[in-house]
Amino acid sequence: AKRNGGNSIVVFEPHMGSDASAQLELQNDLRHAIARGQITLHYQPKVDGSSGSIIGVEALLRWVHPERGMISPDTFIALAERFGIILALGNWVIEEACRQLAQWRALGLHMRVAINLSVHQLRETGLAQRIATALQNHGVDADQLLCEITESIAMEDTLATQRTFEELRDIGVYLSIDDFGTGYSSLNYLRQLPAQQLKIDRSFIRDLETEEDARAVVQAVVGLAHALGLRVVAEGVETAGQRDILLNMRCDELQGYFYARPMPADMLLAWARGDKPA
Ligand code: C2E
Ligand code: CA
Ligand code: CA
Ligand code: CA
Repeated sequence: AKRNGGNSIVVFEPHMGSDASAQLELQNDLRHAIARGQITLHYQPKVDGSSGSIIGVEALLRWVHPERGMISPDTFIALAERFGIILALGNWVIEEACRQLAQWRALGLHMRVAINLSVHQLRETGLAQRIATALQNHGVDADQLLCEITESIAMEDTLATQRTFEELRDIGVYLSIDDFGTGYSSLNYLRQLPAQQLKIDRSFIRDLETEEDARAVVQAVVGLAHALGLRVVAEGVETAGQRDILLNMRCDELQGYFYARPMPADMLLAWARGDKPA
C-alpha cells in the first residue's frame, strides 16, 4: 500500500486505492454516518492551573465506522470538507454539545464545553444565529459554550469571517484561538479579536522539558496573553514535568493525556465526579 504524504488519503488504503467507486462509497458512508449514529463526541477535561480541578472540556469528534473502526477526525474532517459535508457535521456538533451541556447541568455538573469550528462554518452566514438558537432550545447560557478557532483561520481577515466573529461575540459565547504559535498572528489584529483565550499549540508543550527555545516561546505567549487580558491554555500536557513548568509560568488551564484522554460523555461525568472533592 502506498503511503501518500497527504494524510487524508490514508483512509482509502490499502485495498481501496484511488478507485472512484470506493471513494464514492466512503463519501456515502460519511454522509450517512450521522443518521446511522456512528458519529459521536468524546470529551477531554481542561484543568484549572491553580486549583487542579476540572473547569471545562473540549468536545472532539469520533467516527466509529462499522468495518474500519474508529476513524480519526484529522482524517475524516478533511474528507468532510472535500465532500461538502462539513457544515452538516459542524451543525451536528453544535446541537450535540448544547444537548450534552444541558444534560450535565441537570446532573449537577457545571462547566464550559468547547467545540472546534471549521473555516467553512465561519464563512457561512448565520452561524452565530444557529448557535444562539441551539443554546436557547436547550436552555443553556451562551457563556457556557466556548468556540475554538485555529490561529490561521482566526487571522483570515475576510469580511465574512470578521462578521461571524462579531456576531459570535454579540451572542456571548467564549472564543479561543487554537493551535496558537503555528500561524502568523499580527499582534495588532490579535488585540482586536473578540477572544477570551489563547491555546498554545501542543508542539511547544512537547519540547518544554528539553528545549530552551520552547520554554522561551511559551513564557512569552503567557505574558502576551495576560497583557491582553486573555486566559492561556496549554494543550498536549503529557508529563508532570511539563505541568510543573507550565504552572511556574502561570499558565491558567492545562489539558492533555497527563490528566485524561478524551472520553465518552458518561465516563467524563464519572471522572469529573471522582475528581471533585466531596
Ligand atoms: P485540536 O483541536 O488541536 O484537538 C486536540 C487534539 O490533540 C485531539 O486530537 C486530542 O485528542 C489530542 N490530544 C489531547 N491531549 C493530547 C496529549 O497529551 N498528547 C497528544 N499527543 N495528543 C493529545 P483528535 O481528537 O484526534 O482531534 C484532532 C483534530 O481534529 C483537532 O485538533 C481538531 O482540529 C479536529 N477536530 C476534532 N473535533 C472536531 C470538530 O468537532 N470540528 C472540527 N471542525 N474539527 C474537529
Ligand atoms: Ca481544539
Ligand atoms: Ca489545538
Ligand atoms: Ca491541532
